Amino acid sequence: MEAQVKLSDGMSPYEVALLQFDRAVERMQLRKGVVKMMRQCKRELTVTFPVLMDDGEVEMFTGYRVHHSTVRGPTKGGIRYHPDVNLDEIRALAMWMTWKCAVVNVPYGGAKGGVVVDPKKLSRRELERLTRRYATEISILIGPDSDIPAPDVNTDPQIMAWIMDTYSMHVGYSVPAVVTGKPELIGGSAGRGSATGRSVHYCTVRAMEHLGLPLRRARVLIQGFGNVGSWAATLLHESGCLIVGVSDSRGGIYNPNGLDPKAVLAHKQRTGSVLDYPEADNVPHEEFMGLPCEVLVPAALEMSIRTQEAQKIQARLIVEGANGPTTPAADEILAQKEIFVVPDILANSGGVVVSYFEWVQDIQRLFWTETEIERRLQGLLDRAFAEVMDTARKEGVSMRTAATMVAVKRVHDATLLRGIYP
Ligand code: NAD
Repeated sequence: MEAQVKLSDGMSPYEVALLQFDRAVERMQLRKGVVKMMRQCKRELTVTFPVLMDDGEVEMFTGYRVHHSTVRGPTKGGIRYHPDVNLDEIRALAMWMTWKCAVVNVPYGGAKGGVVVDPKKLSRRELERLTRRYATEISILIGPDSDIPAPDVNTDPQIMAWIMDTYSMHVGYSVPAVVTGKPELIGGSAGRGSATGRSVHYCTVRAMEHLGLPLRRARVLIQGFGNVGSWAATLLHESGCLIVGVSDSRGGIYNPNGLDPKAVLAHKQRTGSVLDYPEADNVPHEEFMGLPCEVLVPAALEMSIRTQEAQKIQARLIVEGANGPTTPAADEILAQKEIFVVPDILANSGGVVVSYFEWVQDIQRLFWTETEIERRLQGLLDRAFAEVMDTARKEGVSMRTAATMVAVKRVHDATLLRGIYP
């Protein structure tokens, strides 16, 4: 039996992260003090800073950078620009990063950052000034040996380039390894753009095999058509799946005969949304997740699968591209409906794995081919997927609890090896 806690869709992301942690820990023999340590974030920085706007006015912004754990190495985690960013959410995302890095066994602890802003309302110059000032404010934490940011929602290679340049200007020489997800011309890695979508694709293939379902013509719905969603759609389409629906913040589109993701992406780039794509029907958000499909990939924001959505979902498999997309209350319903869920910390780990490769290449000043990157990524995912499946089977738990158990064990054991300072 899993922990009896009152589950509601109203739990905050950090409450959800703690509940998932507690569920993993209650099945393990761990040192109590180390569990207490892992339950908390190590350090949290809140910054408020001015940005000169194009009209000559000064606006104040708030940003965060949180380190959850530094036990297994420097911290790693994305930077998010969104009007709903808050400290609770950033804490949860930082904790999930610790487990994600540990489950795929890359030598990092977890971090996350964000700025409360709607970047769509800023000009390019304003976005650059905001980014450079935020990077300066958090420069007491970031560095190639201490904390290495990466892109997340509404941040991209250009924003990473500005962060790399700002940090480099401060120290007086170029430090490409301070961020990952940069353009390749300034030390980015081949294959970083597609990496998160690639791990979603990999987990879909493996999970469909496990369920004994054919991949060819499997109907797929993708919620969120940004970096992760559009790459997952493209790769699954190339593997013969039918991408029957995709959505973005404005709504969804549906065509039971399948969509061409590249054409939808071109439409979104032209018009700003997937809506009104000529070869599909528009579908409102409330109906999207209930559309008929075998595979559902949430690739937007956390808490998007709640009780209401879980009840409607017809998929046999959910592969979590987004971080924290499923509430614990919804998880329970999905389990009752015997829907197989590949959890975020495994399914979207491709991003951090290739970020790790980018960091290693930057430090070595030696760059690998895309084929080499894909081979190494596949190796790490093979091992992690098998380990999580094995734990789920042996312990009789969900893939989510199993993945958290594998990760927590690594962080716990590393803590014991290092000892408690002083
Ligand atoms: P992105 O900004 O490129 O894309 C986000 C997409 O979600 C956009 O298309 C947006 O319109 C859409 N969206 C927002 N609200 C929505 C809603 N209510 N319904 C449907 N769509 C909505 O961001 P991304 O980098 O693709 O990140 C998506 C998710 O994946 C986030 O949870 C992020 O934390 C996670 N993630 C990203 C990476 C990465 O490498 N980029 C790695 C791991 C996890």
